[in-house]
Amino acid sequence: MHLPHEQRYSETHGNTPYRRMGRSGLALPAISLGLWQNFGAQAPVATQRDIIVAAFDRGITQFDLANNYGPPPGSAEENFGRILHKDLRGYRDELVITTKAGYRFLPGPYGEGGSRKYLLSSLDSSLKRMNIDYVDIFYSHRYDPTTPLHETLGALKFAVDSGKALYAGISSYSAARTREALQVASEIGLTLSVHQPSYSLLNRWIEEEDADGDSVASVCAEAGLGIVAFSPLAQGLLTTKYLSGDIPTNSRAAQGGSFSRSYVSQENITALRALNDIAVERGQSLAQMALAWTLRRPEITSVIVGARTVEQLSENLDAVLDLEFTDAQLRQIEATAVDGGLNLWASRSSD
Ligand code: NAP
Repeated sequence: MHLPHEQRYSETHGNTPYRRMGRSGLALPAISLGLWQNFGAQAPVATQRDIIVAAFDRGITQFDLANNYGPPPGSAEENFGRILHKDLRGYRDELVITTKAGYRFLPGPYGEGGSRKYLLSSLDSSLKRMNIDYVDIFYSHRYDPTTPLHETLGALKFAVDSGKALYAGISSYSAARTREALQVASEIGLTLSVHQPSYSLLNRWIEEEDADGDSVASVCAEAGLGIVAFSPLAQGLLTTKYLSGDIPTNSRAAQGGSFSRSYVSQENITALRALNDIAVERGQSLAQMALAWTLRRPEITSVIVGARTVEQLSENLDAVLDLEFTDAQLRQIEATAVDGGLNLWASRSSD
């Protein structure tokens, strides 16, 4: 059993500030911890535990999961559940635990997408794996063009109405699909509270306007939907480890999974070096500046970081020590923060 730090909610101790999630009453830490990678069956359990309790000790209340996090899929929820019940027993009410369904989880026709059948059975199995009665936020993990939005959002509404989830969200939906989802939600009496898209210095798709002049950021701002941004470090690219152009053996890029080696392109390295120079001028690491920059937009409620070690987590959490930018810095960054071809979720955001 871990005894959480008494000053964990004190910003004067360098802990995270909280921001209101859109127009909801829920406050989220500006920086949250995600368990997509580094919390599966192969990752050392002691390290997982150390990262999670270190996060909570610094005021990180939000832990972001999904049915398929691991590997293997489901193992991150199982590991998180064990750590929750062993080390953070008695603190459930201080935590925001989220999960999602949408990507492939089971073989067969009911194992991916946005059907009511898949979403609700997946939520039940997530609750069992984590051994909890409810999640705080349940997300449709991706847009599913083969399922009517009424059905997907109806499933989210059932999840909320039945008390298995407190808030409902969507993830990676395009601006147009977000608009449609908001319309359907209002028709069926569901409050959509949050959108979870990818967003970083080198992946700014949520700012881009579509043919109707809408962007994910503008639609969310207009509707009062909080934005919880994932992969704010571009899976680790926005750290100093790739500045030389080499791929360190213990890095995500070396694993051959979600981080394609093609991301470490000459163009991106050039951008990283220029951004790193600005970060050094600010007295921050590149990772810290990347997080602070992502949080500069008022629509962003929280950024979800991943961390493989407690040291990485601590460095990232120290980003909150300086969240201010001068106009000159923002202009310099603007010239450098161009699309790095990193949005591997784009194809699942629309038809
Ligand atoms: P990220 O913060 O962009 O990348 C995390 C990785 O960067 C770490 O695992 C580590 O990889 C490296 N890193 C982090 N801090 C570092 C530091 N200070 N110095 C050096 N390297 C550092 O986030 P992400 O893991 O891609 O995603 C974060 C979370 O977002 C996920 O866990 C998940 O909860 C959520 N997410 C959601 C979706 C969705 O579809 N909704 C998709 C993806 C992610 P190394 O192994 O290289 O050290």
